[in-house]
Amino acid sequence: MSKRVIIIGNGVAGFTAAATIREHDSETEIILMTRETERFYNRMMLSKALSSEELLDDIYMETDSWYEEHRVTTMLACDVIRIEAKEKSIVFQDLSVPKEKQSNKKMKYDALIYALGAQAFCPDIPGMNQRGVGVLRSIEDAKRAQEQLKEAKHVVVIGGGILGLEMAWQCKAAGKQVSVVEAADRLMEKQLDEEGSTFLQHLLHDEGINVYCGRTVMELVMGQDTARVSGMVIADKVETTIEHEQAVLEEDRAMQQSIPCDMVLVACGITLNTKVALDSGLAVKKGVVVDEKMNTSVEGIFACGDCAESKEEGVGHGLWGEAKAMGETAGKNVVSYLKGENQTAIYHEDRVAFYFKALDTVLFSIGQIEVREESLNEWAIEKGITHQECRDASAGTYEKYYYHKDELIGAILIGVPDKIPEVNERIGVLK
Ligand SMILES: Cc1cc2nc3c(=O)[nH]c(=O)nc-3n(C[C@H](O)[C@H](O)[C@H](O)COP(=O)(O)OP(=O)(O)OC[C@H]3O[C@@H](n4cnc5c(N)ncnc54)[C@H](O)[C@@H]3O)c2cc1C
Repeated sequence: MSKRVIIIGNGVAGFTAAATIREHDSETEIILMTRETERFYNRMMLSKALSSEELLDDIYMETDSWYEEHRVTTMLACDVIRIEAKEKSIVFQDLSVPKEKQSNKKMKYDALIYALGAQAFCPDIPGMNQRGVGVLRSIEDAKRAQEQLKEAKHVVVIGGGILGLEMAWQCKAAGKQVSVVEAADRLMEKQLDEEGSTFLQHLLHDEGINVYCGRTVMELVMGQDTARVSGMVIADKVETTIEHEQAVLEEDRAMQQSIPCDMVLVACGITLNTKVALDSGLAVKKGVVVDEKMNTSVEGIFACGDCAESKEEGVGHGLWGEAKAMGETAGKNVVSYLKGENQTAIYHEDRVAFYFKALDTVLFSIGQIEVREESLNEWAIEKGITHQECRDASAGTYEKYYYHKDELIGAILIGVPDKIPEVNERIGVLK
């Protein structure tokens, strides 16, 4: 009898694992199970769908016939509740049947791949649960946002990271008035140094996007007539201490500011989907703990993608390429595991690169970039790091290169896409 692999989660990690298993093993039964009602699609395209509705029809990565040809059975709308590792089965519910008829079902596996990814993190702000407020992680979110955008005039994006800025740009492209509120002192704090952030902020300003950095969102206000969000109260970020709470509150009130808006998009990072793993007794830190071969703490269970935390490298950066590479590693090693052979595939974090294509420019950031300016000198001296900068505000270009002795170890490029391939090739790692 053929063996069965169940893969839970059909994002890029889960899908790649399925495709890899089939590439190396024509016999094993492969079940790909997900809560979503859609087959594997390109999650990265969701923000672009804000300004171009038809994109959602073209978002799928494989045709229906691919699953048939590769004998991968997809079980959509199935919510995985827990793994019963001792008896090698999973417990799930079929969400496609009416709620009153839903009951726990079980399915046996010989090997399991945990690829449940992540969800959008929503900060606990009063007024978050009203109409006109949303996140962007799934096709369902994108469809909801498209509908709400039709009636919106002024959108505020909470979060000035890559995703938030991409969403802001797409809303602008859809003809809306757009503002961005960021709690940190500058935009794209993780990918840019201070000058790069300031440069980017000017680009946004020139495009008519308002940016509020160093501000905390205090509450979202509900419109009295429209029954949807009508504004947002923000305040300067203040370090609160219990002793000074009252004084700080007084100060806060003085520093509050209202922004009228009729739509809010939240881009405040991700929460890793680890609950099923925790409830099933797998080792979990920030993510589901895996070794370099993607084995979890329980034999026969592998994990990959955004939800995984490598013992060697920690949690990933929530990037498509990382999830895909982990999926491939897990897929190869599952095949070996089922054959009783040594697992030989090893996952190493690649050099992390961030691309941001918006504002009619391309922003690229790679390698070791010291973004905390206050510690730059100390860090640079200690490690022997130098940097070189070149900017042309009128041409909209900014370049910064970090060197360790003569070796290029990090770079930030804005508006010079033709230099990306060379930098990619030259970049080394700090030894
Ligand atoms: C709008 C947007 C733009 C992005 N842009 C970029 C970019 O430009 N570059 C880049 O590198 N990365 C980008 N990313 C990040 C990238 O898409 C993710 O890193 C990647 O999709 C992670 O893949 P994954 O397979 O690990 O998890 P996911 O894609 O999150 O897939 C996990 C799947 O598991 C399902 N699931 C969760 N819990 C359960 C459960 N209990 N039962 C059943 N199913 C469950 C989920 O519904 C989901 O379908 C972007 C993400 C978004 C949302």
